[in-house]
Amino acid sequence: MNLQEFWNEALSQLKNEIDPGEFAFYFSSLEFLSSTAEEVTLTVPSPIFRAQLEKNYLPQVRGKLLELTGRPIGVHFEIRESKSSPVLVKSGMAETHRQGPARSARKPHQQLNPDYTLEKYVVAKNNELAYSMTVAISKDPGNIYNPFFLFGGVGLGKTHLIQALGNAVHKQNEKAIVIYVQAESFINEFMTSIQNKTQSAFKNKYRNVDVLLIDDIHDLQNKKDTQEELFNTFNALYEAKKQIVFTSDRAPHELKNFAERLLNRLSRGTIADLQLPSWEIRLVILKSKIEQRGLQLPDDVLELIAKKVNTNIRDLEGALNQICAYGELLKREITLEVAQEQLKRVFAGPAQETVPIDLVQKVVAEANGLSVSDLKGKRRTQAMALPRQVAMYIIRDLTEYSTTEIGMEFGGRDHTTVMHAVQKIEDKIKTEPSFEVKVQNLIRIIKDRAGS
Ligand code: ADP
Ligand code: MG
Repeated sequence: MNLQEFWNEALSQLKNEIDPGEFAFYFSSLEFLSSTAEEVTLTVPSPIFRAQLEKNYLPQVRGKLLELTGRPIGVHFEIRESKSSPVLVKSGMAETHRQGPARSARKPHQQLNPDYTLEKYVVAKNNELAYSMTVAISKDPGNIYNPFFLFGGVGLGKTHLIQALGNAVHKQNEKAIVIYVQAESFINEFMTSIQNKTQSAFKNKYRNVDVLLIDDIHDLQNKKDTQEELFNTFNALYEAKKQIVFTSDRAPHELKNFAERLLNRLSRGTIADLQLPSWEIRLVILKSKIEQRGLQLPDDVLELIAKKVNTNIRDLEGALNQICAYGELLKREITLEVAQEQLKRVFAGPAQETVPIDLVQKVVAEANGLSVSDLKGKRRTQAMALPRQVAMYIIRDLTEYSTTEIGMEFGGRDHTTVMHAVQKIEDKIKTEPSFEVKVQNLIRIIKDRAGS
């Protein structure tokens, strides 16, 4: 696949989507340099230009390429050799640039998972801000977003992203000292150093880094002494303009039993969060995972997994592994039925026949401040139409009733009306994660009540 053509198309589409003045300013001086299967390299006139472009337009550019090619494409900006700006050559940024982007195989970083790279991170609405900040930091650690606080629920990609940052910095500059540590290990190491009276070695280690990545900082809740030590480490690094990155399963203000002054430091820089991607994006992630592993699965199986596994990306991968392992073990082809069966084993709920239609109607009506007769009735105001469609969708999802039977339960509506409703809700879920969460919450309530 030649990405140059995709790039040209992306450019012409972006032209219609971006303010003309901005477009002329930023995009007219971009030049296509080269591409690989997963990355395009463009040139820009200066480091400042690059930083601005990345800050303001990288997510949109990546999003457009994702849309056009159907897979995540890395976008790399190189600075053009420019005879007319000797000033830039003196600056730190140009200095690192002169070494060129490291394409050669370097020794991988000891503590970092080599699979956790920026290239393998699928970027979409749910994470584009966090992603583009990480990319910016990787190009100029210590100077842009410092400290950087990344939070999000379990399995949403925090460790992947923070390690990808470490890998990127290491790849560009092998001499840069990058330390990645789980907060849990940080605590243990610190405690051991007290016992063994090796505190100065501990201090030396953590105050002598260019990039310090501390994963799962919420584990420091209640750990007064370690918090104190981290506070001092933070100050030393911050003053020396060294990059510090934290991840957490919650926002800074939600951390409990945390020394006020440390909290204050943690949240003084930039904060970004990761959210659950829509199922459309979960499908892209699944496809990229199986491609990386050289596996193949039918599209309908992948779609099923993407739709059904809506907790987080770790579970998504878990389900994929489970299904693949099953197929391999039993040498069975993975059909939609096999996948369905396996998913049921992983995500067992109450038996589906036990969910009564009127329970669904009742829960959905209540949640929307409507009565069941509103829901079944003829009125078609938006306030009623959407909940009605949601109820139809949920019944179709949880039970074996046919669309004709469901139509009967909604004041004798035609089966095509039900099909239309299901399709509409599927489409909406596909692109609106917040809507998906609402529907999933309803399903959870309904299953709970059906089970009790
Ligand atoms: P967390 O640290 O937030 O609990 P992880 O970083 O361990 O989550 O992510 C769980 C799994 O999901 C990892 O295997 C990771 O590679 C994968 N993953 C998460 N987000 C993405 C993404 N945007 N693109 C590709 N893989 C992802
Ligand atoms: Mg993690």
